[in-house]
Amino acid sequence: MNIDRELGQKLKEGIRKNEPMSRHTSWQVGGPADYYLCPADLSELVEIVRFSNKYNLPLYVFGNGTNLLVLDGGIRGLVVNIGSSFSYVNCEQNGLTAGAGTPMTYLARTAAEQGLVGLEFAVGIPGSLGGAVIMNAGSFGGYIGEKVRAVKLVSPGAELITMERNELSFSYRTSNLPGKGVIFEIVLDLKPGDSVESMKLMDYFLSERSRRHPDLPSAGSVFRNIPDQPAGKIIEEIGCKGMRIGGAEVSCKHANFIVNTGTATAADILSLIEAVRQKVKDEYNLDLQPEVKIVGEER
Ligand SMILES: Cc1cc2nc3c(=O)[nH]c(=O)nc-3n(C[C@H](O)[C@H](O)[C@H](O)COP(=O)(O)OP(=O)(O)OC[C@H]3O[C@@H](n4cnc5c(N)ncnc54)[C@H](O)[C@@H]3O)c2cc1C
Repeated sequence: MNIDRELGQKLKEGIRKNEPMSRHTSWQVGGPADYYLCPADLSELVEIVRFSNKYNLPLYVFGNGTNLLVLDGGIRGLVVNIGSSFSYVNCEQNGLTAGAGTPMTYLARTAAEQGLVGLEFAVGIPGSLGGAVIMNAGSFGGYIGEKVRAVKLVSPGAELITMERNELSFSYRTSNLPGKGVIFEIVLDLKPGDSVESMKLMDYFLSERSRRHPDLPSAGSVFRNIPDQPAGKIIEEIGCKGMRIGGAEVSCKHANFIVNTGTATAADILSLIEAVRQKVKDEYNLDLQPEVKIVGEER
């Protein structure tokens, strides 16, 4: 098999070998992807899935990399980015159809401009729509799962499938979508409403985000909240703010964020996650679970 010849020539953007994932994750850490691919359209995406099956190559898909800890040894096989080629929004009267690569902030603003409301909570979430649907991303009391009418995917067998509302389930930061394939398009139900009010609410949410969140590179909340107990409050109570391993630090602004102060490796971040978890276990006998997805190999 020659991946460059057989697959690379079929893709408009070709393939990148040993692409550092630190360039594609919001934490700015992560080792190399063996083969980094950006499909230019749906037919290229299907081609990639077929290719991975034909040669039994592992395939990992991601969006904006804002909820990912890629370990320092990188990711083996094919790593597929669903990005700008899958970024589009088509508004209708009671909803919209958007590509999985559409940034959440752009999606929310475009909907509001077209008089569709209900996505205000999504402004400022730095991920793509596909990543948000997988994670059931949410904030300020709203979450994307409650808006989803249908999800279109390339199945692991490289078929185009549509999962309708009644086949989907969403709960706190999870969905039943992992393992079902690569999401390429989503249909959302939204209500017609007042654009100006929607924009005002988004401005307020954005100002709250900048007030609460650190500026340094992060992946948002590291741990899942426990019912009625925000993980950040627990971590703050046991005095972990400012705790540091290498270049990774528990943010002094928001204790559930771990920031890269400039020199962090994935190993630093992983060690800090484990250290915080252990401290919470020792002090409160609670087992915090990471919300971030940890992928790849250690060095
Ligand atoms: C500063 C900051 C603030 C944040 N605030 C919030 C917040 O308020 N609320 C919240 O919920 N999250 C928040 N996050 C986390 C993150 O932005 C969300 O989880 C987001 O939805 C992830 O989208 P992504 O495109 O970056 O996904 P990625 O990180 O690229 O991937 C996440 C998961 O989805 C899978 N995936 C991604 N795209 C696809 C696809 N097309 N098909 C199949 N699988 C796919 C990946 O394999 C991975 O398992 C924040 C992160 C940061 C850095």
